[in-house]
Amino acid sequence: MEKVVIIGSGCAGLTAAIYTARANLNPLVLTGTMPGGLLTTTSIVENYPGFPEGVDGFELMQRMQKQAERFGARVEFGTVESAAVEGNPIKLAVDGKEIETRTLIIASGAGHRHLGLESEARLENKGVTYCATCDGALPMFRDQPLVVVGGGDSACEEATYLTRFGSVVYLIHRRDELRASKIMADRALAHPKIKPIWDSVVTEVMDVEAGKVTGVRVRNVRTEEEQVLDCAGLFVAIGHVPNTQIFRNQVEMDEAGYVIPKRGSETSAKGVFVAGDCSDHVYRQAVTAAGLGCAAAIDAERYLAGISQ
Ligand code: NAP
Repeated sequence: MEKVVIIGSGCAGLTAAIYTARANLNPLVLTGTMPGGLLTTTSIVENYPGFPEGVDGFELMQRMQKQAERFGARVEFGTVESAAVEGNPIKLAVDGKEIETRTLIIASGAGHRHLGLESEARLENKGVTYCATCDGALPMFRDQPLVVVGGGDSACEEATYLTRFGSVVYLIHRRDELRASKIMADRALAHPKIKPIWDSVVTEVMDVEAGKVTGVRVRNVRTEEEQVLDCAGLFVAIGHVPNTQIFRNQVEMDEAGYVIPKRGSETSAKGVFVAGDCSDHVYRQAVTAAGLGCAAAIDAERYLAGISQ
């Protein structure tokens, strides 16, 4: 039986692995389908402390994995298909085999919601991005027109942030009213560089053949009129989807599927802890995920110490 299983190998999961490994708990990390997590999809990470020149997202995650392995963490490629967390041991079905564990750290992250366009997928990381904080400062976006899609706090925050870099920021929303909190909406709409495009959806990202974003085709959903907006970047900020489906009805979560931590990183299920983007819809930064992973590891360690006393 395992002492600690960690689901997810992003910043939260690997930091939890470093801490539990250093506590001699020999953790098993199950990577999920995206080893290294969302950060591996970003190019340069410029806001992770300790890297004044920035660090490649993939490299940062590889370093974290090496650090965890150095202390005895076992990182295995595996996807948890189902989980039974009510009793102890906790049981997981992983690629057809059963794993039993005394504690579980859910660090399964969240995925960016995508528009679902083929051109969007083909130009991802070539001007299409899902994180202004991560990518906004890249040279390719400097003094260029930029597009943000979405009407929530994320879209408003990203659009406001991008005014530092872009010449103009088009904020495209499918309705004529923002969902964002009043303060964030007011701040965005009052900014002279932000130009809202209401009742509109992006139907195509150009230019797939050129291999970079040169513009977006936009359709007004009321008038059906189309226009093309020239831009160098498309920032999609239409929400996130936490990777928590397998825990639905077993661990308390909100309507959107974010696990609700109780005390510290404890969840509603005994011996089950949570860290990172699957429980955090506010900060969603690599460094906050790492911090939450550390907290979950310490909580799991204390829980195990309590059981054995
Ligand atoms: P959100 O509140 O769920 O907003 C998503 C936005 O994307 C909505 O405006 C929605 O349109 C639009 N949308 C969804 N699917 C779409 C699609 N397929 N095509 C086009 N538009 C689409 O998500 P969020 O902005 O990421 O915020 C999530 C949570 O984090 C919220 O609770 C928010 O308050 C919080 N947050 C807080 C801060 C902060 O306080 N600093 C910053 C960021 C996020 P509709 O409005 O028409 O549904």
